[in-house]
Amino acid sequence: NHTPASNFLRQIVERDLAQGTYVSRHWGRTPGDAEHHAAGEPDPAKIRTRFPPEPNGYLHIGHAKSICLNFGLARDYGGVCHMRFDDTNPEKEEQEYVDSITDAVKWLGFGWDAFGASHLYYASNYFDFMYRAAEYLITAGHAYVDQQTAEEMRANRGTLTEPGKNSPWRDRPADESLALFREMRDGKHPDGAMILRAKIDMASPNINMRDPAIYRIKHATHHNTGDKWCIYPMYTFAHPVEDALEGITHSICTLEFEDQRPFYDWVLERLAEGGLLANPLPKQYEFARLNLTYVITSKRKLMQLVTENFVDGWDDPRMPTIVGLRRRGYTPESLQLFAERIGVSKADSWIDYSTLEGALRDDLEGKAARAMAVLDPVKLKLTNWDALFGANHAEPCSAPVHPHHEEMGKRHFNLTSEVYIEREDFMETPPKGYHRLYPGNMARLKYGYVIQCTGCEKDADGNITAVLAEIVPDTKSGTPGADSVKVKGVITWVSASEGLQAEVRLYDRLFTEAHPDAGGRNFLDSLNPASRSIVNAWVEPDLANAAPDTKFQFERHGYFVVDGKDSQPGKPVFNRAVTLRDTWQK
Ligand code: ATP
Ligand code: MG
Ligand code: MG
Repeated sequence: NHTPASNFLRQIVERDLAQGTYVSRHWGRTPGDAEHHAAGEPDPAKIRTRFPPEPNGYLHIGHAKSICLNFGLARDYGGVCHMRFDDTNPEKEEQEYVDSITDAVKWLGFGWDAFGASHLYYASNYFDFMYRAAEYLITAGHAYVDQQTAEEMRANRGTLTEPGKNSPWRDRPADESLALFREMRDGKHPDGAMILRAKIDMASPNINMRDPAIYRIKHATHHNTGDKWCIYPMYTFAHPVEDALEGITHSICTLEFEDQRPFYDWVLERLAEGGLLANPLPKQYEFARLNLTYVITSKRKLMQLVTENFVDGWDDPRMPTIVGLRRRGYTPESLQLFAERIGVSKADSWIDYSTLEGALRDDLEGKAARAMAVLDPVKLKLTNWDALFGANHAEPCSAPVHPHHEEMGKRHFNLTSEVYIEREDFMETPPKGYHRLYPGNMARLKYGYVIQCTGCEKDADGNITAVLAEIVPDTKSGTPGADSVKVKGVITWVSASEGLQAEVRLYDRLFTEAHPDAGGRNFLDSLNPASRSIVNAWVEPDLANAAPDTKFQFERHGYFVVDGKDSQPGKPVFNRAVTLRDTWQK
């Protein structure tokens, strides 16, 4: 419930709304829409954006930026964002990825129900239209079938400084191209024998305009259309057509597509001239992709981490995938906050990893329940317990679930004669300024009593096996005597007899280099060997029943989540999502 910061894309949308650029649009032009709405109705959506992943892998933090951007614009300006699978390439796409992508977008907090229509869009649903559009381009003299070999085509493309050379097939009659294109469609030619190319300008300074390919032969089964087609459109031709058919107004992509924009417009303008598409046409805009320090976002490299077992799958909490971030303890709100804080710009830059962690801290600070946990335990024996309270006494203590949210209630746990404390909370010979336990010193067991340290026990090798202390009577937190003794140190603890032993997984960055794959570097060379450590911790007994995905702040240690995969009823496993402060040292 706040106004998002302005950026160049918001300004473009606001300008278009003010000028009424898109008011005359109609909808109902895609096969999916036609089931719900008669074609020709004015479009009730003020703008249409789209998120068009190729279903060939799991989404990552970079996609989250694009999702928040595209769905966010639609939400904020009375529009709709189309969830579209860019599935024009038959070879790499799988249902597993389609499912994981829809899950990820929903989990991030976005949906695609609007104006009575609720459906996913698939680029492959437009193959019939794309084919007709290609035939039109041939007939109108804008495309030709080229029979040069791949090598000849490469050689004739020219370079940045030299113009390309026309193909000997460039001026063949349209009829001949059309007949050959139909033969391509009918499976009469093997892969690579010929392609359909746009006829634009082999001398264009923009290499993408030197007669780019439109259709190629690929004898391959498609996950959606099966064996119906053995020719498939090129991405650069398919994409503007998909956008136009769906009535997309603002087609937002990453900067590397900037040089493709003239071809995007060329395709749409030619098809509009031929009456196959209606004005106003979609416009492409580019923004800088997310680069995050210590993180790689290439799908191919992430795939390699998984298949070569450098991590435990796509949802390993160290992975920058949405499933990995989720398992690590990231919330949809934290990722939305992150996307908003980094904004969008037209220049490539690196975002510091701490920005991502900061967004998570800021989201969890106000809502994560607090709990005490001891990660590096040593036993503390309260030696005057039996004399004060009687043997087997358990002293009830309570603490707020959240220090600033009384409505979240109280948590309860018992203080007993033996508890676990952090090993670092005791020192035999402390340095100056150390206020925790050392012989003779007093400190408070948080939410419990002030205690005075009397010494420690050691094994034969001199290792400390237990810390010894006495309760200072009448000093319990929340009682009138609580302030009778002033102490500087406060110690977190968990009852040794009633606490819950739990596996806690601590994570560090997956790479030791800020730019793991920059400058020709092999990202595998900077894998951090200490990116995960597992400790046997003690936590408050009530955490036995914490549901998977629940977040906690373990006092002093950071934010943790109940692992959604490896936790058992009564036996949670905790992942550290993020430390309390940015302590990571470069
Ligand atoms: P790859 O090229 O590895 O197959 P991709 O990055 O092109 O993957 P797509 O599935 O095609 O992935 O991406 C879907 C959308 O997500 C695209 O519109 C793209 O602009 C956006 N996107 C992908 N990576 C990033 C990134 N790092 N930052 C911002 N947006 C991104
Ligand atoms: Mg892609
Ligand atoms: Mg890409």
